[in-house]
Amino acid sequence: MRKQIVAGNWKMNTTPEQGVELVKSILKGIGTHCGSVNYIVCPPYTHLSEVTKITRGTNIRVGAQNCADEAKGAYTGEVSAEMIASLGVDYVILGHSERRQYYGETSEKLNKRLNLAYANGLVPIYCVGETLEERESGKLWDVVKAQLEEVVFGLTDEQFRKLIIAYEPVWAIGTGKVATADQAQEMHAFIRKTLTVKYKELADKTPILYGGSVKPDNAKEIFAKPDVDGGLIGGAALKAEDFLGIGAGF
Ligand code: PEP
Repeated sequence: MRKQIVAGNWKMNTTPEQGVELVKSILKGIGTHCGSVNYIVCPPYTHLSEVTKITRGTNIRVGAQNCADEAKGAYTGEVSAEMIASLGVDYVILGHSERRQYYGETSEKLNKRLNLAYANGLVPIYCVGETLEERESGKLWDVVKAQLEEVVFGLTDEQFRKLIIAYEPVWAIGTGKVATADQAQEMHAFIRKTLTVKYKELADKTPILYGGSVKPDNAKEIFAKPDVDGGLIGGAALKAEDFLGIGAGF
């Protein structure tokens, strides 16, 4: 049985004060919803210190939305994996399509980020996914395969054991267009098969999350698919009720 995970990517939303209120609301609601679900919240860097304090000893874990591709030094504006981990953060989202698209994140940079995350005890949530054009031209399989081969395949077995993958079709992120449960399952099965080539039976344990306009009313059908182990949630993670409503989809 793989872990069931619902992770919220808050992106550049909420002030630290609003973020603390949101986490408190999630904590308040979680008693009635939690069950076997592992909840992770990924607020902006500025909130991590407070959010890790109020979630300590609770059922919620905390992730960052990125980390630097260098360990330390003259990199103005960057935040290192070590700094993040020192706050008690457990996870880090890497390779989100917004980072790839707007900030030029290449596989080379992502390799460095993943290694620094592991070196500091952070669990990467590595995002892959195709654009609409890539899907419509039939290139989706090659694109996702390359995103896996170029970054994940460099990991040792020990690192790979801790990895979480998020399949996020770019055309479904923040657009309200959700992949059908069958489309999600088809790609998740392909991802698992691709990972199996290199990591054999270890790939059977890798949590693969679906991301892209997941809401409380569509989560259940998507999470029911055999290779879907949860969700990476954007917009709906900003409301405690919706975030927990998605978790209730398990
Ligand atoms: C995301 O950006 O990771 C995401 C899945 O966003 P949304 O749920 O808003 O589509």
